[in-house]
Amino acid sequence: MLKNEKKYRLATKAIHAGQKPDETTGAIMVPIYASSTYVQESPGKHKGYEYSRTQNPTRESYEKCVADLESGSFGFAFASGMSAADAILSLLEVGDEVIAIDDLYGGTRRLFEKVAIKKSGLNFKFIDYKDFSNLNNFITVKTKMIWVESPTNPLLKIVDFKNLSLAGNEIIKVVDNTFASPIIQRPLEYGIDIVMHSATKYLNGHSDMIGGIAVTNRSDIQEKLAFIQNSIGAIQGPFDSFLALRGLKTLPIRMERHNYNAENIAEFLEKNDKVGRVIYPGLKSHPQHLLAKEQMNGFGGIISFYLKADIEKTKNFLESCQIFSLAESLGGVESLIEHPAIMTHGSVDKPLREILGITDNFVRLSVGIEDLNDLIDDLENAFKESGL
Ligand SMILES: *Cc1c(COP(=O)(O)O)cnc(C)c1O
Repeated sequence: MLKNEKKYRLATKAIHAGQKPDETTGAIMVPIYASSTYVQESPGKHKGYEYSRTQNPTRESYEKCVADLESGSFGFAFASGMSAADAILSLLEVGDEVIAIDDLYGGTRRLFEKVAIKKSGLNFKFIDYKDFSNLNNFITVKTKMIWVESPTNPLLKIVDFKNLSLAGNEIIKVVDNTFASPIIQRPLEYGIDIVMHSATKYLNGHSDMIGGIAVTNRSDIQEKLAFIQNSIGAIQGPFDSFLALRGLKTLPIRMERHNYNAENIAEFLEKNDKVGRVIYPGLKSHPQHLLAKEQMNGFGGIISFYLKADIEKTKNFLESCQIFSLAESLGGVESLIEHPAIMTHGSVDKPLREILGITDNFVRLSVGIEDLNDLIDDLENAFKESGL
């Protein structure tokens, strides 16, 4: 472990934070501690580990590394992004209200509306990103949490963290930072209380595990989340913690390439006459481009756009791509393409989808780290093959 980790820069932290050579063997990579329990010298006298739901050395290194990258003090790793979200909601009590951005990851919206209302008696108010500049009009005495994604999924709206952090002192502000990663933005630095991730996406980055993580630097929240993580038990196992810790080492360098490829592809699409509106925070045409420039260091790997096509031709286009694989998910090294209305946001009711702008000709790309020219050729070829 590095001394004074806080003073190191992100690319160094990504490789070293929370990690030290194994004390017994010198192994440079944190081992997979596949142990459920730990021997105690005398009852209650142990080396900091009792039972692996509560603490596991592999998970702990991974949690510390992400916490450090996010400028947080404590991290809690869960079996999925959704179980991280569920644990965060467990900070609340029956009758509490959550204000959330309307353009949310479909699964988060499902957790809120179809599970948390019934199971936990919480209430949810969904508002447009524009209304976040007048949050006081929406906050009531019952409002205990504000939940945003930025950029949002899939319309890539940007929330102003500085402004958000000023809303109601007692309200816990949560940012789902999955789309950006801590290399691009660190919401805790703006006074946000909790950052969460689907580690399945950029943090791990290799499309080979499912995981979630929550980070805070408030010790009161840390205490509660530790209790909830141990009580509910939806922990990240040691094997997946190892994979994610390994993935983190290349996060800074991967994000550089994601940013570069996506910026260039967004410009290519914007010039193409088969494409209507292109949404990417790095484009000058993005309504919040200036805010994105201020708040983000790079604009990420996700691009959304409207084809000038009906549903059939849109499907043909998606099927005609070779390097862009037709699949849900995002944030891996490989490029993916998907149809939000049918795939990732199929669980959102159609009328709401239409209001949000998730129409039948709407396409989302997760731009990977392959060669930029091959990716552009692939899209070019799919335009031709699909008869657009
Ligand atoms: C994928 C995703 C989630 C859910 O994470 P899982 O790891 O699939 O449970 C939450 N938020 C966002 C923004 C996501 O993209």
